[in-house]
Amino acid sequence: MSFTGKVVIVTGASSGIGADAARHLAKLGAKVSIVGRNEKRLNQVAEQIKSAGSPAPLAIVADVTKDAQRIVDKTIKHFGKLDVLLNNAGIVIQDNVTEINLSEFDRIFDTNVRSVITLTKLSVPYLEKTKGNIVNVSSVAGLKAIPNIMTYCMSKAALDQFTKCSALDLAPKGIRVNSINPAAVRTPIFETFGVNEEQAEKMLEEYKKRYPLGRVGEVHDTSAAIAYLADDEVSSFLTGILLPVDGGSIVAGV
Ligand code: NDP
Repeated sequence: MSFTGKVVIVTGASSGIGADAARHLAKLGAKVSIVGRNEKRLNQVAEQIKSAGSPAPLAIVADVTKDAQRIVDKTIKHFGKLDVLLNNAGIVIQDNVTEINLSEFDRIFDTNVRSVITLTKLSVPYLEKTKGNIVNVSSVAGLKAIPNIMTYCMSKAALDQFTKCSALDLAPKGIRVNSINPAAVRTPIFETFGVNEEQAEKMLEEYKKRYPLGRVGEVHDTSAAIAYLADDEVSSFLTGILLPVDGGSIVAGV
């Protein structure tokens, strides 16, 4: 698998799944535009890519809810084209139907859904030229109901419909659109919604016992699935796919 000469935008590249996907795609030869708000962490990822001997990345400190135009413009100005848009940036909060806070609902939907729509719309003219593709990072939470993360589940379900509808809309332009839908993956995301490291570790241990493959996901699992869907040789006939990366948890009904 080679991404040599391909230009990839990776949102949410300052941490977790996005950071590893950016490092992985760059190792496979891609020129990556890495996007995140945290400049320090983003620059650390840029350094890791450079010191691995991969093509020099472009670090764009930006908020996907506000800076979509700047993200696409800077990438085109710097690299001259776009082959893959990896919509990975995402956030989660704990809530349920009786405790829902509508401004938090807006914040989640702005990040997990609205920004993806905007970035996709802005990227289409460039992806049409390269016959490129889009990979969205959804979740098993889009495919099933999970207690106490209601707004997150709704946002990922909306993202999944966006993946499928935009796959149909963009197929005539030769642009493929797919998503990966991971179950629990070991990243700092758990600490972003009020769970400390120890509690996160406990949660992951619990998942591990219930997942058929006997472990939780690691970022190398998501990176491999992203690269698979983004690769035009192996996946040229795949579009509108929601790919669970879940250790068998969906089929087990976990
Ligand atoms: P992390 O918290 O480790 O990373 C989230 C990334 O999103 C960070 O780089 C963060 O960057 C970025 N981000 C969030 N909001 C914005 C914003 N407004 N503008 C730009 N960047 C933003 O989480 P993960 O790596 O775990 O999550 C990545 C994706 O994977 C998410 O969409 C998540 O829903 C999904 N996922 C994760 C699972 C898991 O168990 N870890 C399971 C299933 C899906 P910064 O703070 O620098 O802006």
